[in-house]
Amino acid sequence: MALISCKDCGKEISSSAEKCLFCGCPSETYRENENKKNTKILFIKLFILVVVITVLMIFVANGGLQWVGNLFSNWFSGVIFDAVGIDNP
Ligand SMILES: [Zn+2]
Repeated sequence: MALISCKDCGKEISSSAEKCLFCGCPSETYRENENKKNTKILFIKLFILVVVITVLMIFVANGGLQWVGNLFSNWFSGVIFDAVGIDNP
């Protein structure tokens, strides 16, 4: 643990402190930790995005969209027939 001087007010604060005791300015260590945290979150988000895109591409490549289309048109015609009061053929 060392003493560093606050960037904002110039007073000496502990390097392990999250923020300056005097002015409340976030310390360098805290900022670094926040940056690391943000980078990690960004990587997780990117990873999820890549996984979702990959799954979607596999889905589309296997004719998945057609399946969804069929399901939707079946559901839609079911709703229409229900609304009109005819049995779904
Ligand atoms: Zn300060």
